[in-house]
Amino acid sequence: MHGLQAWIFDLDGTLTLAQHDFPAIRRQLGIPAEADILAYLKSCAPAERLRLQSELDAIERELAQQVSPAPGAAELIRHLHAEGHKLGILTRNLQQVARDSLAVIGVLDCFAAEDILGRDQAEPKPGPGGILDLLSRWQQSPRDAVMLGDFRFDLEAGRAAGCHTCLIHPENSWPALADWHMPDCGSLLRFLQQ
Ligand SMILES: [Mg+2]
Repeated sequence: MHGLQAWIFDLDGTLTLAQHDFPAIRRQLGIPAEADILAYLKSCAPAERLRLQSELDAIERELAQQVSPAPGAAELIRHLHAEGHKLGILTRNLQQVARDSLAVIGVLDCFAAEDILGRDQAEPKPGPGGILDLLSRWQQSPRDAVMLGDFRFDLEAGRAAGCHTCLIHPENSWPALADWHMPDCGSLLRFLQQ
């Protein structure tokens, strides 16, 4: 892991503390309990899709105001940036919300503006499109890259792109999908500093 050049992070629940109550968001939007929110929106008729989309955007902008850093997240990003690695964000959230959240946790300056991909800039995870876009722009091989996140979609996106994967979550819930498992960003930083 120490030799990897390209580091692509999920945002919510990985670099920031999980604050999305997805069941509550589904209820607010009137979306079936078991549905993937973005896939459901895509399946709606255009007028309904626009209405739900703007409601969801408003919810996420509101949540961004209350964001707080996950343990060790800012220090980990600072460390990787200082080492000269390529850093990207791939989130199913809005790009502007991602920028605001990174600013609140104090690491926005570690990311090039075009390397923060939200749901309007890239195929949503678990699709690999966003990872492949970043790697192609950076001229990096998937072999030298890792996708890090707190959910199955992050790991599946990494696998589909052919890069390494790291689950950042207290529980190792998807061992078959993760090359590494770290309980939090601080543990990963300590591992890298060994
Ligand atoms: Mg997440």
